[in-house]
Amino acid sequence: MQLALGLLPPWLVKNCTFKVEEKQLDIYIEFTSGSLLACPGCGREGCKAYDTAERTWRHLNFFEHVTYITARLPRVECPDCGVQTVSVPWARDGSGFTLLFEAFILTLANPSLVANLAKRHLLVVDDWLRAPLTPEQSRLLLDLLDDRYRRRSTLLTSQLPVAAWHEQFKDDTIADVILDRLAYDFYRLELEGGFMRKITSPLT
Ligand SMILES: [Zn+2]
Repeated sequence: MQLALGLLPPWLVKNCTFKVEEKQLDIYIEFTSGSLLACPGCGREGCKAYDTAERTWRHLNFFEHVTYITARLPRVECPDCGVQTVSVPWARDGSGFTLLFEAFILTLANPSLVANLAKRHLLVVDDWLRAPLTPEQSRLLLDLLDDRYRRRSTLLTSQLPVAAWHEQFKDDTIADVILDRLAYDFYRLELEGGFMRKITSPLT
């Protein structure tokens, strides 16, 4: 189960319960206590857990079982950003669905999504590669970038250094091809300076 979810330390599966009557599978994920975390606001490393808040996400069905993931999420106290709930590798912040479930729904809901996005004159991708991509997401992305290559403009914004992009793809070959598409015909702007949250805070 740990591998099936792509979980890495400090996250681990504590237990799973099958409710046979309800056809429900609950997966409980635990955070190794005492681990130091990065602040989700500014990325500052080495923040201690402050307390936890329980959250549940709808995940892909396990055979005919409706599957939920539940975890107690640590909150960290950052000197710059205050108390922040950490991000998890399996879901977007604030989403009640796991990334895999969202990808599945997108595919179901709109099989022509890639074709549709491919036609846009400008495609803006905010927070590019904030979370690792599944092989399925990587393939869809490759199709999309291939369709747009040298014909349409794409704007990517990311907090992740370019050198760290490759490891966000689970498939090395697809990562090579995608990053190759992005390696030519581009303008790259590296921003410097402080954190906007700090600069614009009314408290400082
Ligand atoms: Zn922070």
